[in-house]
Amino acid sequence: MKPSSAILPAPSCAGVYVHFPWCLAKCPYCDFVSYAAPPTDPAAIDHARYADAVLRELYARAPAFDGRRVQSIFFGGGTPSLWTPRELGRVIAGVRAELAVTGDVEVTVECNPTSLDEDKARALLDAGVGRLSIGVQSLRDERLAFLGRLHDASGAVAAVRAAMRAGMPRVSGDLIFGLPGQSAEEARDEATALADLGLAHLSCYQLTIESGTRFGELARRGRLPLADDGIVADAFLAIDEALTARGFGHYEISNYARPGEEARHNLGYWRGDEYLGLGCGAYGFARTGRGAEAGGVRWRNAVSPERYMGGVAPESTEPLDAQTLLRERIMLGLRRSEGLDLDCAARELQLGASPWTPERSRASAWLEQRRRIVRDGSRIAIPKAAWLWTDDTAARLF
Ligand code: SF4
Repeated sequence: MKPSSAILPAPSCAGVYVHFPWCLAKCPYCDFVSYAAPPTDPAAIDHARYADAVLRELYARAPAFDGRRVQSIFFGGGTPSLWTPRELGRVIAGVRAELAVTGDVEVTVECNPTSLDEDKARALLDAGVGRLSIGVQSLRDERLAFLGRLHDASGAVAAVRAAMRAGMPRVSGDLIFGLPGQSAEEARDEATALADLGLAHLSCYQLTIESGTRFGELARRGRLPLADDGIVADAFLAIDEALTARGFGHYEISNYARPGEEARHNLGYWRGDEYLGLGCGAYGFARTGRGAEAGGVRWRNAVSPERYMGGVAPESTEPLDAQTLLRERIMLGLRRSEGLDLDCAARELQLGASPWTPERSRASAWLEQRRRIVRDGSRIAIPKAAWLWTDDTAARLF
């Protein structure tokens, strides 16, 4: 199904996501589309050929995003800080030329400490990047070794400082908590130490063990030490308490920001905005139809870089009806501290019926009684103390 350019009351907002699929090494917990650049050599990545392929895809898909205001461009991966700033900048320029980009567009690049220094940060700034998201993951060497990361704690701190010295306007740091042997206090202290470097945004993710990863395989064989659930819950709350005391807003389960520093790109996902996904393994989403036909389409590009660069069609294209989109809005909206307004979502999705089905109303009352949600009219949100059960809560409201 091809997204139509005349389907939505303009102007609607959209983001652009660009996937860069190479890393220096594959981390044992990672289930993203990412490939270790060796055994050849990172220099062997054909940076220009990959940018050409992304631009070709951009030119082909841009007409379907006519009338959208692009508020964010996000380079994720993989490790896009391995991409030469020249080629990455060519993609930014292409997006700016092809789409209606807002004047204050947020342009973010995910970086690893092993491929970010002051010169690289300056070059990215010159290429039009205004925000870096640095994969710090931990400030303790033994934790980084467990995670299979190539950097150590001092390398992580050096990368954050280099980004700031280069004058990058916005710098975010990623942390992983819930590691075996890590206490709640240790997790909290890492988050505060990172914040105290001067960051205005932090993402604090709980380690999850995914099947198909090295950790997943070890866990299946009972050979991976696992964190205690109670300690992980305590760590989540300890990080929340420490960062909110420092003036950060805990605006999404895993994300903290000083006022005005929220990641606009991710806010778009959680709101249900459209996104133009470009690159190997990227997902994209566009709205389709109107009235009874209203829905959307999600596609996924080929996960093999060679196949992607060879111009192979998306490996999957999934039509989504309005009810499915509403369930996605519930799942994603409940991740935000402000929750979501179900009536607004239903109207915007042209659901054509009340979202308050008898089953959902019953589930909502049950959840309210147990303080798993708070409800104000048609707005529902999850209080922080119940955030750890968000997936279950959302599923009950499907
Ligand atoms: S650096 Fe990030 S994307 Fe690359 S393998 Fe590690 S976790 Fe995955």
